[in-house]
Amino acid sequence: MKPLQKQTRKLDRVDPLWKYRYLFSFDDKSMIYLDGNSLGKPPNSTVRAVRQTVEHQWESRLIRGWNEGWYDAGSVLGETLAPIIGAGPNEVIFSDSTSVNLYKLAYSAMKLQRGKTRIVTDALNFPTDIYILQGLIKSLGEQYSLYICPSRDGIEIDLNDLERTVDDNTALVLLSHTAFTSAFTYDMQEVSDLVHRKGAMILWDLSHSAGVVPVELSRTKSDLAAGCSYKYLNGGPGAPAFLYVREDLQQQLESPIWGWFGDSSPFTFSREYQPADGIRRFLAGTPPVLSLSALQPALEMIREAGIEALREKSMKQTEFLISTAEKLLLPLGCTIGSPREAHKRGSHVSIRHPEAYRICRALIEPKPGIPAFIPDFREPDNIRIGIAPLYNTFDHLGQVTERIVKILKRQEYKNHSTLKDGVT
Ligand SMILES: *Cc1c(COP(=O)(O)O)cnc(C)c1O
Repeated sequence: MKPLQKQTRKLDRVDPLWKYRYLFSFDDKSMIYLDGNSLGKPPNSTVRAVRQTVEHQWESRLIRGWNEGWYDAGSVLGETLAPIIGAGPNEVIFSDSTSVNLYKLAYSAMKLQRGKTRIVTDALNFPTDIYILQGLIKSLGEQYSLYICPSRDGIEIDLNDLERTVDDNTALVLLSHTAFTSAFTYDMQEVSDLVHRKGAMILWDLSHSAGVVPVELSRTKSDLAAGCSYKYLNGGPGAPAFLYVREDLQQQLESPIWGWFGDSSPFTFSREYQPADGIRRFLAGTPPVLSLSALQPALEMIREAGIEALREKSMKQTEFLISTAEKLLLPLGCTIGSPREAHKRGSHVSIRHPEAYRICRALIEPKPGIPAFIPDFREPDNIRIGIAPLYNTFDHLGQVTERIVKILKRQEYKNHSTLKDGVT
């Protein structure tokens, strides 16, 4: 056995979360999945839950299903997610997509903060977050402006730089807790304190941290948050997103979309909108029941495994991958595009190389006797390796590193086109 394999076997043998990988479908030796930060794998229990909803609820109960659990599904699931993101049971609800939720929350914050005209985000943020703010500012009026805090190295944000951008005229700061390219992760408490000292509100995008990095929304007095549930939360493609509003703010905030599901009593069909009490006012229309039913078992699995245990394994795994890459890949022209300190990064690691795109193509392409490795590519030169501690093993990380070594040494990437697919 090769030394690296010996090492990964040993680490896998003492993994306290080992059993969870068998609770996921498609554990196929010919494919090693390293993209759970973009789309999580389906738990077996989810496949059963969706079938159950179709056959035993939709098919047999039809419209009666609305009174048998569908109507409240978004709130019930919000309660299930709440402890995973450090929120109270009445502070989280599932609805719409992350993009739409960011809009609803950012709009409501700007109305509450009337008179202040600056919004701050950072250069590492996901494009949809920035577009949403640009569109919001366009509709609010030309006195409003967006300030994008720069990153000095493209990997981290210096909190001193952030502090300088948040002035007394700042209404809102929208940041990704964990950055989608580098995995840089903010200290939530420090940022929340910094933002509040200036009288601004903080809106977190938790898409890349929920379910894998402990989040403490209540303890840090964070105001607002939203995030995806199809990444580490394993809710499936297009799964509904969640949103969080701190309890004491809920009655003061107003959604920009006055839909009937956000009304205090949708089924009185009144002609006057009256926002529901609490977090429900942020709903808009009919909830996606099939997608919500896929989420329940997935969230329960994360609660059972425990967010602290998941974080501990994930930190060991990112550490192992980075130190192995430093030994084997830096001499071949790669650099590490993620923070070197474990507490400053989420659960993916970016490995940078000028030929990153073609290296990814070579990794994904099946070859006789070699598994297909599925990471993803992020502009301009990142091979992004997502580690989902529920199902990824140390062996996966050892194998992908060795595969990249071979691709580089034999220049296998040269057999692939530089033309990019629609979704990378
Ligand atoms: C994946 C991701 C999104 C995606 O938003 P959708 O509305 O679900 O398409 C938004 N923000 C961040 C930080 C993400 O990582």
